[in-house]
Amino acid sequence: MIPERYRKAVTFSYDDGNMQDIRLIALFNQYHVKCTFNLNSGLNSSDTWLYKDMPVKRLNLPDCVDLYRNHEIAVHGKYHRNMTELDFDSLHDEIFSDRDRLTELFHQTPVGMAYPYGCYNQTVISMLQQAGIRYGRTVNANHSFQPQKNLLAFEPTCHHDDEDLFQLADQFLKSDSDEIQIFYIWGHSYEFDGNHNWNRIEKLLDQIAGKPDIFYGTNSEILL
Ligand SMILES: [Zn+2]
Repeated sequence: MIPERYRKAVTFSYDDGNMQDIRLIALFNQYHVKCTFNLNSGLNSSDTWLYKDMPVKRLNLPDCVDLYRNHEIAVHGKYHRNMTELDFDSLHDEIFSDRDRLTELFHQTPVGMAYPYGCYNQTVISMLQQAGIRYGRTVNANHSFQPQKNLLAFEPTCHHDDEDLFQLADQFLKSDSDEIQIFYIWGHSYEFDGNHNWNRIEKLLDQIAGKPDIFYGTNSEILL
């Protein structure tokens, strides 16, 4: 819940738990903003892949409890599988095992998730509800700040590489609506290395952080 005295809130959502989260979290902490990190508890630092010819390496999560301390941990599937392609048992394992392992590691029970590859269907949503997951983030940018009713198919405002990012930030800051306004930005921290654009997130934080009329919270603090 956004505290009563605020009409505006900003939140971030970053996926996959890779090495570049270290640099991103340092920035988030410096600017006193909050993020939800969507993690895959069945994968570890031996899991690497290429993004724009740059190797991306996962963090070893048991070593990262302190790193993520100021932020929210959410489910992203135990092995980052496309959940719409799984049989019942695999889907159950992908969601429940990830939730339970993350709870064990971080001493907070996840109540949210981000859909791997942005893929979901009604079967997936039903399983999430059984697991006590109350919001699921898609990858469909809606360029909006309106509160949403269907939290299990939640649409972010935009990705950090969205060409309208700074224009949206400007519009958000200028808004004087009486309705609650939520600016929700998502991405992967390794994209900043691959695209050589860390300056993008620094510029955004310069623009939107530290405002007395904005609440900076994790996804669950703002959406639930
Ligand atoms: Zn992912």
